[in-house]
Amino acid sequence: MDGIKKNYVFHRDLKKEYPIITHGEGVYLIDENGKKYLDACSGAVAANLGHGISSIGEAMAEQAKKAAFVHTMRFETKALHALAETIGKMAPDHLNKVYFTTGGSEANESALKLARQFHRDAGRPQKHIVIGRWQSYHGNTIGSLSAGGDVKRRHAYTPNLLNYAHVYSPYCHRCPYDRQKDDCLAKQNWTCVTDIERTILELGPENVSAFIAEPIVGSQQGAVPPPPGYFEKVRELCDRYEIVLIIDEVMTGFGRTGTNFATEQIGIEPDIITFGKGVSAGYAPLAGMIVHERLIDGLIQNSDGKFIHGYTYSGHPVAVAAGLAALDVYKRDRVLENVKEQSSYLLDRLLELKQKHTCISDVRGRGLLIGMELIKDCERDLLFNPSEKAAETLNSIAMELGAVFYPGTGSIDGTNGEHLIISPPLNVTKKEIDEIVRILAESLSIFEGQLRKDEAYEIAK
Ligand code: PMP
Repeated sequence: MDGIKKNYVFHRDLKKEYPIITHGEGVYLIDENGKKYLDACSGAVAANLGHGISSIGEAMAEQAKKAAFVHTMRFETKALHALAETIGKMAPDHLNKVYFTTGGSEANESALKLARQFHRDAGRPQKHIVIGRWQSYHGNTIGSLSAGGDVKRRHAYTPNLLNYAHVYSPYCHRCPYDRQKDDCLAKQNWTCVTDIERTILELGPENVSAFIAEPIVGSQQGAVPPPPGYFEKVRELCDRYEIVLIIDEVMTGFGRTGTNFATEQIGIEPDIITFGKGVSAGYAPLAGMIVHERLIDGLIQNSDGKFIHGYTYSGHPVAVAAGLAALDVYKRDRVLENVKEQSSYLLDRLLELKQKHTCISDVRGRGLLIGMELIKDCERDLLFNPSEKAAETLNSIAMELGAVFYPGTGSIDGTNGEHLIISPPLNVTKKEIDEIVRILAESLSIFEGQLRKDEAYEIAK
């Protein structure tokens, strides 16, 4: 039991002790010793409006006092209808039925199951395999983990994962297929797309149920937007082989990338959008999926309108109250406009850091979802060994200095370097961005100093 802290919480890393947070104020989290942390990642890209917003807290408390729990298999509330309508109207035209869950993993699990029921009802019962992408994340339940590409988490659960197939998502900065971006785009011959078709044909299209992808890859790749035209090609393949296209907007939804959904920017109509995090701005466990009417028609015609699924806490009234109140704040505070204004400022400041620090090899992203690829040395294009946990180390330095970032977790295969996500609350101000950049710059200098020391040691050995 040596090294295990004497508290009762079973958290992810039993050998670590985390600061105890007492409250939050705007972009800051404050711990029991009064130390302030600038939340430069919106707490895993969920607290999109920052902390301590009283109107959201009050709406939740009001609802809890009236009726904290309503069994949604028997009853509904007006608030549930209002929230579904608001979300449906924010989504692309033909996606207008909203199914609620408590978290993003459940949302993706629901989408994978709905795709299978849709095919089964349409007389295609064999369609069961999902194609996902390496360098992507869709959640931690067995189904969503099987579809995702988080190598570390998947590894721990092999061989019990579902037998889902994977292709690489586009990462032109360091192409996993070893192609050159300009050449690839000019010839319109993209291996990241032809590999999808090859995989479908290898599996047999009659066996493939769904393709799932994040529009801008978050935690596993560090905010990488797709090259223009990629998703149009994916949509064509899904149409050709009757495959349900699921776009996972758990991280990107509700303004994070500068539009309500990032789907607007990739210019296609998915069959299902999944969402989470930002819908309640992290104030309550609330997530779900928005479903295209063609899937809904299928359910109505073939399954008597019944989706064979369900969770106790779907559409929980207190979570719904948080969602409605949060969406009000997004509108009231013109948050989308702020994202547009602040994102180019933040991106420019981070690109300045790239000029000064040889461990930053790329800065990219959309809106206020920005990723920074970290490597050992740009000049030699030397990647970190995954065990070095570079992003974690950099983030720990930043936490000492009073800011918290989102270290990327997807580099165990060494194909995409380490990365740090910078994703402050969407109502962040310029002054706060300056503070984020100041702390990050200082952290990078300390981090690079440590790298040089390690290198000197290696050489001396
Ligand atoms: N999909 C994406 C794109 C995510 O970023 C996450 C969470 N990081 C999930 C799904 C899973 O969501 P949750 O942790 O709420 O289950």
